[in-house]
Amino acid sequence: MIVAERKPIEKILEMVAPYKKILVAGCYGCVTVCLAGGEKEVGILASQIRMARSKEDNPIEVLEQTVERQCDAEYLEKFRDNIAQVEAVVSLACGIGIQYLAEKYPKTPVFPGVNTLFLGANIDVGKWEERCMACGDCVLDKTGGICPIARCSKHLLNGPCGGSQYGKCEVSKDVPCGWQLIYDRLKELGQLDKLKEIIPPKNWLRAKGPRTLVREDLTLER
Ligand code: SF4
Ligand code: SF4
Repeated sequence: MIVAERKPIEKILEMVAPYKKILVAGCYGCVTVCLAGGEKEVGILASQIRMARSKEDNPIEVLEQTVERQCDAEYLEKFRDNIAQVEAVVSLACGIGIQYLAEKYPKTPVFPGVNTLFLGANIDVGKWEERCMACGDCVLDKTGGICPIARCSKHLLNGPCGGSQYGKCEVSKDVPCGWQLIYDRLKELGQLDKLKEIIPPKNWLRAKGPRTLVREDLTLER
């Protein structure tokens, strides 16, 4: 999923400083799961903004609304009535949702209420780790299901850099060496011979944006 974290309240207050009526817009997708931008976080942020502004004797009206996904046009339509009433929107969706909302309502300023961090997994309560960098040409079949791009600090495709110590990456002793993990997994699978296969240089054009995906089988049905 896409992992994000709420921006500090001071930053958000700066963004909404010129306005008297705003909407805080949440998303029930990934940002709800990583506790950054779901209905609960919308309520908390809206209260924080109201309280901060009332302390300054500069009250603000804050509407709250959360939709299924801000990266999907059909759900963005649900914001129409509220957006028509406000001067600005703070979106708690990921960067994709924020941009799509801004694109759909170009006359209303839309501000980011979260920092979008990475594509990751929830590995423990309150802990997420990056697992994929959306490179567009997955090589997990060759690396024991461990991503050498997201999990090796140098994104190396053909084995370790030689700097790891005791299984940790040379850039930080808190980071496991991605290639040590790959080696250990392949060994466990009895597939160490896969390390002899050279992975060709990656076509990074597939990872350069803005990328598009068109499923003709779906578009032809319309
Ligand atoms: S190889 Fe590419 S697509 Fe596959 S997990 Fe890694 S970054 Fe993601
Ligand atoms: S020590 Fe391991 S994870 Fe770190 S850069 Fe080298 S190969 Fe990659």
